[in-house]
Amino acid sequence: MARIYLSAPHMGDLEATYVKEAFDTNWLSSVGPNLDAFEAALEELVGAPTCALTSGTAAMHLGLRAMGVGPGDIVLCPSLTFVASVNPALYLGARPVFLDSERRSWNLDPNVLEDALRALAERGQRPAALVVVHLYGQSADLDAILPLAERFGVPVLEDAAEALGTLHRGRQVGALADVGALSFNGNKIITTTGGGAITSRDRSVIDRARFWSTQARDPGVAYEHSELGYNYRMSNVLAGIGRGQLSVLSERVKQRRRIAFAYRDAFADLDGLELMPQADWGLHTNWLSVFSVDEARLGVSRDALIAALAREDIEARPAWKPMHLQPLFADAERFGGSVAEEVFANGICLPSSSFLTDADLDRVTGTVRAAVEGGARA
Ligand SMILES: *Cc1c(COP(=O)(O)O)cnc(C)c1O
Repeated sequence: MARIYLSAPHMGDLEATYVKEAFDTNWLSSVGPNLDAFEAALEELVGAPTCALTSGTAAMHLGLRAMGVGPGDIVLCPSLTFVASVNPALYLGARPVFLDSERRSWNLDPNVLEDALRALAERGQRPAALVVVHLYGQSADLDAILPLAERFGVPVLEDAAEALGTLHRGRQVGALADVGALSFNGNKIITTTGGGAITSRDRSVIDRARFWSTQARDPGVAYEHSELGYNYRMSNVLAGIGRGQLSVLSERVKQRRRIAFAYRDAFADLDGLELMPQADWGLHTNWLSVFSVDEARLGVSRDALIAALAREDIEARPAWKPMHLQPLFADAERFGGSVAEEVFANGICLPSSSFLTDADLDRVTGTVRAAVEGGARA
């Protein structure tokens, strides 16, 4: 039987056509019609100007730079996320300060944010930026978070890398704050094999990002440079994949949600195995189907489940390891309690690729049930 991966690419019918067009017309660099069309389609989706880049991490880097983040600055960030939410702050010499999550969405807790903003203000410190992450395809509580950030004068970067197709009050996330970052990495809900985009309602941010992403070459034919640049621009070939993938995004959202709810239904009678919260303010794509394991009630540990699945050649992973537990950030300050740690201790990500068949899902749920029944007997 074939291995079942956690989250694998799923192409539609058009991607190869757009890529072939790029070859046929020799648009094989970082300019061309696929890039223009991909950015136009992205702009339509998020409702704001965009610039396609080599990765979501690059988008975060350019976004924080556009927001003026520099050496010694504080950047607030949820602890429960993937390291790419934080590394760009380090690229700029800034200092991350980590905030705990809330139970009802697993995303940044607005109350912890308020405590942190107050405590820092009392010390005369104003963070240069707040990174808000929409984790696993669910939007953070922007209604509470954005007004707080505004009250304390802190610009907000939305890390929407896991949130293509995710809605907050009916609107696609990514351009609901000052700057946003999208990812088309191979494991995301849609992919260009690797890629990302920066979004902002402020067109000057996007213009600067595009300039920096192509080595910051000053206007004119000479190779003159007044500013530091990067080689971050997406290629026209990969943008062709992106065009095709965007046209199937809504289908991919339905497929990912179907998988999460199929698992939930299959586990309905198991006490202690629960789908992550689905907050009522948005549409959760369930990019990854994440469950929390209550070992005492289920009778089997999260890690035993991962091991049982691995024996059947099924890939499952723990939830993200919080940033404040990472050796890289051992010295970082943090605010809040233990929600991120609990999610990490108990969370399991099950296979979530949008092409999984009913037979695949049966294989996963059957393995989990067998492990639970075996654990209960042991
Ligand atoms: C994937 C991811 C990123 C980075 O995107 P890349 O395109 O892989 O660089 C950033 N933040 C989060 C939360 C992610 O999951």
